[in-house]
Amino acid sequence: MEDGRVALITGANRGIGYEICRQLARRGLSVLLTARRDEAGETACEELRAEGLAVRFERLDVTEPESVAAAFQRIESDLGRLDVLVNNAAISVEKKTPAVEVDMDTVQRVLDTNLIGAWRLCQAAAPLMRKERYGRIVNVSSGVGSFSKLAAGFGAYRISKTGINALTCILADELYGDNVLVNAMTPGWVRTHMGGIQAPRSVEEGADTAVWLATLPDDGPTGRFFRDREEFPW
Ligand code: NAP
Repeated sequence: MEDGRVALITGANRGIGYEICRQLARRGLSVLLTARRDEAGETACEELRAEGLAVRFERLDVTEPESVAAAFQRIESDLGRLDVLVNNAAISVEKKTPAVEVDMDTVQRVLDTNLIGAWRLCQAAAPLMRKERYGRIVNVSSGVGSFSKLAAGFGAYRISKTGINALTCILADELYGDNVLVNAMTPGWVRTHMGGIQAPRSVEEGADTAVWLATLPDDGPTGRFFRDREEFPW
């Protein structure tokens, strides 16, 4: 059990993020379920609280610096700590439009959410984690962002995930020595709004590796990329 530890999950009103909240709360963490829409976030929280889980809602849009700053001010004043950050929020909006044709506003939107948003959250969380000399940052990436699998289509989404993998390596090195472990993971192809109903994996399977990384012991790995708790090629 991880009693007393506080975890923040982005984009957690549905899908894999929601399931990560459930699994972390079941392990005894105090969970901050964050979402950009109040109603969706509150409803998701109520559902988990009805299961007897310790979950609190914080409005947080990863693309809005003011929203991130406000959420972290509340966390600092109410809780004074943050032990776990799961950067889960992401969008995939470009379909199969080739990178040579995709509208650059779309590219900007995808990178703003999936990469810059996660980076912003890491910057907000790192001082709290360093202060406690404890932190676990989990970046939810994707196999399609792996260098070994880069190919035509979904250029912005792929590059946002290649970027979050690079960010993982850089932050792991910068935070090494502060007991802040930073890892990336891919959930596989999961049945969610993003993954679609034809996907073979459940949200439980998709969330498992993120939950494992969020609760690593102090001698756990850092700066690595995982799928199903096994190392995955960058
Ligand atoms: P999902 O069901 O579409 O959920 C995405 C979540 O991100 C939603 O809660 C969404 O909120 C939120 N979000 C989007 N923009 C946001 C913003 N600016 N600020 C805060 N939250 C925002 O997708 P999912 O399948 O659970 O995906 C979760 C993670 O797994 C993502 O990082 C995704 O790239 C990754 N992944 C998924 C698959 C898959 O097959 N499903 C495969 C590989 C990787 P709204 O409800 O307000 O839109």
